[in-house]
Amino acid sequence: MMSLAEQIAVVTGGSRGIGRGICLALARQGATVVAAARDAAKLNDLVEEARSSEAAGRIVARTLDVADRAAIDPFVENVIAEFKKIDILVNNAGITRDGLLMSMEDAQFDEVIETNLRSVFGLTRAVSRYMVRARYGRIVNITSVAGVVGNAGQANYAASKAGVIGFTKSVAKELARRNITCNAIAPGFISTDMTDVLNDKIKEGVKTLIPCQRFGEPADIAAAVAFLAAPDARYITGQVLAVDGGLSM
Ligand code: NDP
Repeated sequence: MMSLAEQIAVVTGGSRGIGRGICLALARQGATVVAAARDAAKLNDLVEEARSSEAAGRIVARTLDVADRAAIDPFVENVIAEFKKIDILVNNAGITRDGLLMSMEDAQFDEVIETNLRSVFGLTRAVSRYMVRARYGRIVNITSVAGVVGNAGQANYAASKAGVIGFTKSVAKELARRNITCNAIAPGFISTDMTDVLNDKIKEGVKTLIPCQRFGEPADIAAAVAFLAAPDARYITGQVLAVDGGLSM
């Protein structure tokens, strides 16, 4: 079923991990996907992968540093100039700068808030202007189970992700009457570069807490994004969908 034919999607952090999986899933559903991240080489690998796979849509690469406030509006304007519309926005780019509260530096906190939360505001604000005019939109924000239940050593990250949840619900209320939905997905532990840094002992310990007894794959998150991004998901808004193998229940 090609639920996203003729649709234009923007996915931040599309070069690696979960974002990469989301780009491929949306392209398989027929969307043209603008994958945005800082690393042009990794983005171009993804473009090639989509071209040589059975994706019905296509992926195009655009470099963007979501922490560069001044870059966001021009980026969105350029996408609109080229593709005429944005139907789907997936705010996925994110970083961790873990550390215990007492030794956490200002820069460690600020960098995470800027990349994980402030960028979601900037991009959603810019894209929503066009979605409102089109009277259609699907916004999916990638938060985290850490933003729901907290995590020692991640006060900065959890604060940014909890912020994304409050932002998601507020935007959902503001834009629902315009046929624009805004939802969040809260992944648990997913196998990507972000979790690769954990040592084996921690990974094994975490697995015992996950009812599904394994880390998730980017495709597990991508499937949920594709569902919420589809036209049929029109009556679902302001929700936080945990995709975590049961970890947070
Ligand atoms: P990765 O570290 O594997 O990938 C992060 C992606 O974000 C990369 O594509 C990276 O691209 C991009 N990115 C980082 N900073 C910027 C920036 N300033 N501007 C543009 N792009 C940026 O992370 P994951 O795939 O694991 O995480 C994706 C999202 O899922 C994040 O928001 C994360 O917080 C969230 N999440 C992940 C979980 C996990 O277990 N993996 C659990 C819960 C939530 P580049 O470096 O090329 O810019």
